[in-house]
Amino acid sequence: MQKNKPRGLTRHGIQKYSQSHYITKESDCQVSNLSGKEAQAIETLKLFEPQTEPYYLCYSGGKDSDVIRILAALAGVKHDIVHNLTTVDVPETVYYVRSIPNVIISKPEKSMWKLIPEKGMPPTRLVRYCCEELKERGGKGRVKITGVRWAESRNRAESAGLIKIIGKPVSTQKTAAELGADYRVNRHGGLVMNDDNDEARRVVERCYRTTSSMINPIVDWTDSEVWEFLRHYGCESNPLYQCGRKRVGCIGCPMQGGNRMKSEFARYPKYRLNYVRAFDRMLETRNKKGLDNRVFWTSGESVMRWWVGDDPRQITFDDL
Ligand code: SF4
Repeated sequence: MQKNKPRGLTRHGIQKYSQSHYITKESDCQVSNLSGKEAQAIETLKLFEPQTEPYYLCYSGGKDSDVIRILAALAGVKHDIVHNLTTVDVPETVYYVRSIPNVIISKPEKSMWKLIPEKGMPPTRLVRYCCEELKERGGKGRVKITGVRWAESRNRAESAGLIKIIGKPVSTQKTAAELGADYRVNRHGGLVMNDDNDEARRVVERCYRTTSSMINPIVDWTDSEVWEFLRHYGCESNPLYQCGRKRVGCIGCPMQGGNRMKSEFARYPKYRLNYVRAFDRMLETRNKKGLDNRVFWTSGESVMRWWVGDDPRQITFDDL
């Protein structure tokens, strides 16, 4: 659990927090300067704070997770800051995360290099098995704080809200209806609520042990609001942003598209090699299972070319 965090928005608390969390501009630390969204996010965190144990704060080392880390401290809510290593993390991000006080760094059971042969295919935009197994693991039975924002993707705009609850859909909906909460069900069967009121709080309180319950206090923040907030508190965030990068996640993440994947592999050639080796092992597994590799998945290298979009002969997921 994080120690020495400020309680509420007292000047003393913010100063104390600034000494260990990169907040350097004392003159900026005025309660009156907080925007409505900041104050709202802080109130939300206070309202949903679990009574029996700290929040589980999902910390990726990116700008959005820096915002929630600072907000949680400003709100004075108890929280564990947890960073999940994925084994394909950008080294600069790992160094940055290590520099943040009180972060719990968690290693996965299986590396990406093991997962790929096991799954029989590389992770793709549509089949992101690695996120579930590597990045989003942990925090079962806890109330999580995430830095999810609608501005990040259309998918998030559709599926996330201020509060998102996944799992036990029937009983959770029953509870939400019983308590008179205003909710909708997203296309993945999750429950989404956009009100930080007592009804929503009671739904989370009753359901979080058996579901995955997420509070997304900055869900409606724009990119510029995120940067404005971080600037205000003197947090420069991950140094990779200063090199012009928009994302600071995994090396070779398929979500960023082929060109960015290729430029990452040029920067981190050892990771490219490890992916190619994992693809070689993946093909061995596929061959043993008698799966069709088509004519163009003949080696780890050829899978890599297909993966980054350099092979025009595309296959569909039904082919795999
Ligand atoms: S590579 Fe991309 S999809 Fe996979 S865990 Fe990392 S962020 Fe998620």
